[in-house]
Amino acid sequence: MGFKLVNVDGRAALASDGHYYDLNEISGGAVSDDPMQALAAASQLSALNAALGGMTPAGNLADANLLAPVPRPPQGFGIGLNYRKHAEEANMDIPEVPMVFTKYPASVTGPTGDVVLRSNYVDYEGELVVVIGAPAKDVAVEDGWRHVAGLCVGQDISDRAVQFASTPPQFNLGKSFDTFSPLGPMVVSPDALDNPGALRLTTRVNGEVRQDDTTGDLIFDVPALVSYLSHIMTLQTGDVIFTGTPSGVGAVQGLFLRDGDEVVTTIEGLGTMTNRCVRGPDHPNATAVTPFVAGIAARKD
Ligand code: ZN
Repeated sequence: MGFKLVNVDGRAALASDGHYYDLNEISGGAVSDDPMQALAAASQLSALNAALGGMTPAGNLADANLLAPVPRPPQGFGIGLNYRKHAEEANMDIPEVPMVFTKYPASVTGPTGDVVLRSNYVDYEGELVVVIGAPAKDVAVEDGWRHVAGLCVGQDISDRAVQFASTPPQFNLGKSFDTFSPLGPMVVSPDALDNPGALRLTTRVNGEVRQDDTTGDLIFDVPALVSYLSHIMTLQTGDVIFTGTPSGVGAVQGLFLRDGDEVVTTIEGLGTMTNRCVRGPDHPNATAVTPFVAGIAARKD
């Protein structure tokens, strides 16, 4: 049961068996064609999905121009150091409370969108992304999943030079350049997955596997994150939570993204995103020798 929501050229659609169905059309106008509005109608989407057998698809998914299924999240959150092995590779303590930063919504791009690199210190972070359905305020952990419209694949692209430019470090800007939040290819409702709490996640760069783990290893899992954040601010329909990345990021290996690199991110049951890297002009800190950059240089010597 449940549903798979896609954004085809700006219109909300349901995906099923290789086809897509225009939501506004199949609902007789009852559900908006705006993907953000559709996220508020989870129970209607499930009912429509159950009736797809008698409906005519609008086209083949393989031919569709899929954009970010959550194109304009009201709020975007990122969670740092949420996998044990990643905290260890980053030489950081295992957090006792979630380490939260902002992914500004302007950074969202789609599942095939280009990622524009503005320095030579840009990194990939494959992540499970939670999309909020019903607004959440002071929600108990055991009720956390009830506020999740669905899950999707995400990349928390990070300019490490900016992330560590100030003292103490401030992650928000380094993770919020334009195009630094690829989302897609679809939002899958939790009840459409056999085990939404443990999904295999891989990131490949130019075909080489860099990250391979399961979301079952999250230190703070999906309901715990929804609960925690909801005690601080009201989570709104369409908010996205990047839940953290497993080990294997480029920075610890000195492997930063380069012009022309292809980043392929897959999560079991949620699909695959393929994003190409394009080198843009330097940002103001791109060539500054910060302690982070000096550390990278020292490691290479
Ligand atoms: Zn991250």
